[in-house]
Amino acid sequence: MKYLFLISAILLTSIISAQGRFDAIEITTERVTDHIFMLKGAGGNIAISTGKDGVFMIDDQFAPLSNKIMAAISNVSDLPVKFLINTHFHGDHSGGNANFESSGAIIIAHDNVRERLSNNDDTSEAGLPIITFSKDATFYQNGDDIFLTHVHNAHTDGDALVYFAQSNVLHTGDTFFNGRFPYIDLASGGSITGAIVAAKKGLMLINDTTKIIPGHGDLATKGDYQKYHDMLEAVSDTISKAISNGQTEDQVAADKSLTEAYFTDKETKNDFISGEKFRRTVYKSLNESLKKS
Ligand SMILES: [Zn+2]
Repeated sequence: MKYLFLISAILLTSIISAQGRFDAIEITTERVTDHIFMLKGAGGNIAISTGKDGVFMIDDQFAPLSNKIMAAISNVSDLPVKFLINTHFHGDHSGGNANFESSGAIIIAHDNVRERLSNNDDTSEAGLPIITFSKDATFYQNGDDIFLTHVHNAHTDGDALVYFAQSNVLHTGDTFFNGRFPYIDLASGGSITGAIVAAKKGLMLINDTTKIIPGHGDLATKGDYQKYHDMLEAVSDTISKAISNGQTEDQVAADKSLTEAYFTDKETKNDFISGEKFRRTVYKSLNESLKKS
C-alpha cells in the first residue's frame, strides 16, 4: 500500500511536470493569406484554413496544448474544426488528436500514420485517423482545392505534403525544416534519399510566390525550400563519397567540414539535430540502402 502511494505520487509528479512544460507556452497566430493562418506553440507548425465550410486544420501539436490551440482558432473562426490532417505520426504533430476528435474533428492521414499510432502503448482508438489514404486525396474547402500527397520514406514512412491550390500555400510537414538541419526518423522508415525526393516533389508543386509552412521554423519562400533541398542533396553526395572512400560512421560524424557550409557545429550544438547528429543520420541512411542494394 505504501509503495502504491509512492508510485502514484511519482506518477502524479511526472504528469504535473509534463503539463508544466506546456504551461508557459503561448500559441501565436500568423496570417499567411486572407483565410489561412500558421499557428506556433511547441512542436510542429499548425496550419488552419478558415471560411464558410469550417476549419480545415493541419497538425495539432501536444495534447496539453489543445485548449490553448482551440482558443487561438476561435479568435479567427466562429466555426469548429471539421477536418484535421496529420502530416505524420510524431507526437508534436498528432498529440492533440483525441482532444480535437472529441470536439468533432474528422482526422485524416496516410495509412502508415494510423498504423504507427495504433502500435503505441495506448490501446484505445481515441484520436486515430478515421480516414486514411495511400497515395493522394483532394479536399474542396473554403475556396481551395487542397491536395494531399504522400511522399515515400522521407521524414518517416507516412509523410504527406498538403497544397492549397488557389491560395498557393504549401504545408510540408517535417519533410522541410526551415533554417536548420532536419530530423530524419530512420527507425520509422525515414531516409535521406526519400527526404530529397520529397523536397523535389514539393518544389515541383509550387511557384515563386508560394507561401510555405515548414514542419518547423519560420514561414518560408521557394528560395528557402530550394536551399534546403540543395543542402540535403550536397550533404548526401559528400557523405556518399566518404562511404565509397572507406570512411567509418564515426569519422564522418566527427568531420564538421562536411556540413559547415550550411550550419556550423558550433551554432547547432544545442539544436535537436546538431551537425554531428545530422552527419551520422545521413551516413546510416546511405549505408543502409547500400547494404540493401
Ligand atoms: Zn516529425
